[in-house]
Amino acid sequence: MNIHEYQAKDILNGYFIPVPRGRVALTADQVERAAKEMGGHCVIKAQIYAGGRGKAGGVKLVQHPEQAQEFGKELFGKKLITPQTGPEGLRVRRILIEEAVEIAREFYLSITLDRESSRFCLIASAEGGIDIEEVARNSPDKIHLLNIDPFTGLQPFQARKIAIALGLTGTVCEDCVELIQNLYRCALEKDCLLIEINPLVETKAGWLMAMDAKINFDDNAMFRHREYPDMLDYSQLDPLEISAGKYDLSYIKLTGNVGCMVNGAGLAMATLDVLKEFGAEPANFLDVGGGSTREKVAEAFKIILQDCDVRGVFVNIFGGIMRCDVIAQGIIEAASEVQCRLPIVVRMDGSTVEEGKKLLLESGLNVQIGENLGDGASKIVAMLLKKTVA
Ligand code: ADP
Ligand code: MG
Repeated sequence: MNIHEYQAKDILNGYFIPVPRGRVALTADQVERAAKEMGGHCVIKAQIYAGGRGKAGGVKLVQHPEQAQEFGKELFGKKLITPQTGPEGLRVRRILIEEAVEIAREFYLSITLDRESSRFCLIASAEGGIDIEEVARNSPDKIHLLNIDPFTGLQPFQARKIAIALGLTGTVCEDCVELIQNLYRCALEKDCLLIEINPLVETKAGWLMAMDAKINFDDNAMFRHREYPDMLDYSQLDPLEISAGKYDLSYIKLTGNVGCMVNGAGLAMATLDVLKEFGAEPANFLDVGGGSTREKVAEAFKIILQDCDVRGVFVNIFGGIMRCDVIAQGIIEAASEVQCRLPIVVRMDGSTVEEGKKLLLESGLNVQIGENLGDGASKIVAMLLKKTVA
């Protein structure tokens, strides 16, 4: 789960990591008032669930409250397109107004879960700022990595090694050691998959400060943090992913035109692979889970059909806990409700499979039965081709 920069900074502040003084605004007038409060000279920052805003025109230094208001008007409602948003971009609904800090040096500092070693990994570079991706590509030797042993935790000497590698000396170096340890504590306690501070700066006054902050929480740890869902900004999410979340369905929009409904994440991934093997492009990943009800299947089916890129649907369900006739009823119910005329291929196996197939074939829908995964995939491809030719 993503949160905004201003929320991430609030969290870091709670771990004694200094951040610039700031205010969040929802209107251009609030931007002006906040800028006045900062003395006019401040930085206006679009809040979206993506980085790369500086280069996309989402971050601006202004000198007067009126200039802040003007920029606020320009930003609100605008879609920012950055390398991290995808081609559709993300709409700006919130703006952070911050004191303008006099920066002496910019560093990169992050902590992320390294899935290969199953450990937190600290990443630091003295070449922080908006071109960090280029540094990683062209001079990987300038990036320092540290894998943290979960049993011993992050040791002060390890944090010091990183601070020294960043070229810090004296009291700022000691501040950095403390900051890195606090960052690790924050990642652990808040169940983060990523905390990225880019840039971490040394101010001209000699303070270390998080000038930008990105936090990504581990969804699997949500039960430990009841407050996290309230932090979500739904305007930054795909509406279909929001509906899927309500019904506890794992849905991810992809770029193709074959809607997929599958039970089990592994089977869903295999289904996407096999569809691609047959030359089709999946429109989504959707795992309805194990013990789904008829209603859940119907909702899942409706979510798939709301995606206007979908030209056909492939259902691949193994009916173990879930009975095939129940799945069939869910599909029929949803397809009739939204008057779906699209080609559908259903590959089912398991409990009450014959009843399920019979229900589908007698439903009047444009449906075919796939005898196995390959057969199902080839059938949906053929049905789509026929439709295009017709
Ligand atoms: P993004 O990473 O999305 O481009 P950042 O928050 O990192 O956005 O801002 C881009 C750049 O703007 C930073 O690298 C920093 O140089 C500058 N900047 C951001 N916030 C401030 C601030 N409060 N004071 C001074 N400079 C800032
Ligand atoms: Mg940044």
